[in-house]
Formats: sequence, C-alpha cells, structure tokens
Amino acid sequence: MIAHRFRLYPNKNQEVKLLENFELCRQTYNTLLGELNKQKVIDKSQIQGILPDMKICEPELKKVYSKTLQYECHRLFSNLKALSESKKKNRKVGRLRFKGKGWFKTITYNQSGFKLINNGKRCQVLHLSKIGDISIRCHRNINGKIKQITIKKEASGKWFASIIEERKDVIKQKPIKKLVGIDLGLTDIVYDSDGNKIVNPKQSKKHAEKLALLQRKMSKKKKGSNNRDKWRIRLARQYEKLVNTRDDFLHKLSRYYVNNYDAIGMENMKITNMVHNKHLSKSILDASWGKLRQMISYKAERAGKRFMSVNYRGTTQRCSQCINKVEKKIQEREHKCPHCGFETSRDHNSALDIKRLTLIEIGKGLAESTLVEMEALPIIRQLPSMKQEAPCES
Ligand SMILES: [Zn+2]
Repeated sequence: MIAHRFRLYPNKNQEVKLLENFELCRQTYNTLLGELNKQKVIDKSQIQGILPDMKICEPELKKVYSKTLQYECHRLFSNLKALSESKKKNRKVGRLRFKGKGWFKTITYNQSGFKLINNGKRCQVLHLSKIGDISIRCHRNINGKIKQITIKKEASGKWFASIIEERKDVIKQKPIKKLVGIDLGLTDIVYDSDGNKIVNPKQSKKHAEKLALLQRKMSKKKKGSNNRDKWRIRLARQYEKLVNTRDDFLHKLSRYYVNNYDAIGMENMKITNMVHNKHLSKSILDASWGKLRQMISYKAERAGKRFMSVNYRGTTQRCSQCINKVEKKIQEREHKCPHCGFETSRDHNSALDIKRLTLIEIGKGLAESTLVEMEALPIIRQLPSMKQEAPCES
C-alpha cells in the first residue's frame, strides 16, 4: 500500500457540499456514539444496522455517499479500540466524546464512490459520488488499484485528497555493498560516516522565526474574534510554507542516501522527549529528524534497500574504531582516542559508530556468506572483531 497526497481544487458549490458532508458525518458519528453508549454488550453490526433507519428519518443524510457514512461507524470503532488499548497500557482514559461543531475535517471514500479520470491535462479530475467532478493536481502517476480516498480541509483553507494505492509488485532485496551511518545534529542536520555533512538549511530558521512572531501576535488577539481567526489562518499558511520547504529539503536528502547506499543506519533517538521543547526552532528540527528517518525508511523499503535503526546511546562517548569509552563534554567537538589513537570530529566518530552498529544489526539477520561478501567495505577492516557483542543491545 502506498499513500499519496494531492491538492484538490473544489469550486464554491463543491466546497459547500463537502462542508455539508463533514457536518452530516459528524452528526452521524454522534448518533452512533449515543447508541453505543446505550449498549450493555457492544455489538458493531447492530450499530451499523441503525444507518438505514437514520436515512429514512433524516433524508438529508442522502447527500452523503452511503459508504462514506458507513465509514463513520468504522471510525467510531477504531476510536474505541484505540481507547481500550491505551487503557491496557494503564493510561488514564475517559470515554469517547461527542464531537462538537466544526470538529470534522475529513470524509472518507472506501473501495467505491470515486473515480480518478486522467484527461492528460495538468489538472486531472476526481469524481466523487454526491459531490461531483473536482479538479485534482496529481504530481505522481497512480497505476495500482485505489483502495481509499480521504478528503481533507487543512487549517490554511486548502483542500487535499489522500489516496491509498494498492501495489502488487514484489520488491527484490538488493545485495549490500555500500553502507552508511548517519548522525543527526543541530547545526549539521546530518553527518555521515563517509564524512559528508549537511548544514541545516537557513530557510527553515527564517520560517520558524516568522512563525513565532505570528504566534505571539495571534495570542494577543481576543479569543473568538474575527480578527483572531484571520491571524489563525495567517499562522496556518506560514506553517504550511515551513513544512513544504522542509519536506522538499528532506525528500532530496533522503533520496540521496537511498540512491547512493544499499544499507542506511540511523540512531533511534526518541523524539517524544524533545518535541515539547520550549524553543520552537528546536522542536521543528526535532520533527525534521523524525521525518527524515521516516522518509529514508520508506524510500529504502521501496527500493529493496535496508534501513536500520540503532541504539544511539553511547555513540558520542565511544571510539568507533576500538569501542573503548572516550568521554567528552558537550562542547568538545573533536574525538581523540587515547587507546588506539584514532582522531576525527566528534560527529564523524558518532556516524562511524552508528555504521558499525548497523553492520552488527545487519549481520544478525544474514547468513555467513553474505557477510564475507561485505568484507570489501573499508570500515570492516578496521573493526577489531565481528564476533564482538554490540555494547548496547536495543
Ligand atoms: Zn579508539
């Protein structure tokens, strides 16, 4: 399954219909939730069975495609499932809540009710049952079967379609000849084991500063006022700009690694710890790391290449060549090993260590013969022993 996201350009009339659909779906969701709350023993089929009756009582619901309405039942039960799963993890959970006006920003067409028409023009046509033919900008070809389409209105006011495409082609795993370890950082967003570093683009910093300014300005406007709403849209547009620039950069960066290497190792640094960072630019950078990891991972999978997530702990305090501990303070940017004499920059040493750990991870899943083939890699010759245990088990 592959997901695509394309921009939609509904006309005024279609936009009204879509918004009306959101509202009707929300009402349906709430009605179904009300019924669910009444049940002593949960019975999904009985809840789903209410829908035809609802349509008789409220002819308005006929404005929504029948499967789209049914999807709300699915949405309700997946929310219920998520709730019980967090309960199992001993998290404090409440009950499912009724959704207030304007809460719904999406509708979903599952299996049917849509058709993507390729007219050979720049903008193609997405036919949605009960809505009409909407102009859609597909920047990528869809050859497989479309399983599901979700229509979404973003906070910026722009419309998008998320299309899930089923692909049957089997991806063949490529032999591993070139391996790279990537260290993530603040000033250099990546530093790899081949010594390449990529500076975090200034563009994102500029966007982040502007975003922070808008945020401050909006917070001063009265809650619920039209003025505040105007600023909210401005803020959303600015955020969208930032995301677009950043994603574009990350797509190119991840593409570079997937095209040039057969296996890519990255640290599994937990992002959640840092997302709540007070500094906006830091939390944005944090999100970039997560996204880069995600992009490399799925691009590698599609290309039959390997992505490995390794335990980041210790990578800065360990010599990548002799695995001895070499302690350094945060401001120390150089790595000088008193044990084996290896000298390089701190980040390069980390990247080399990540590469070493990646190799160990790959080795665990491969036959002996494959490992011999990989011996051509220069880094292996410097490794003390392949049999050595990984210092950190993840
Ligand atoms: Zn050393």
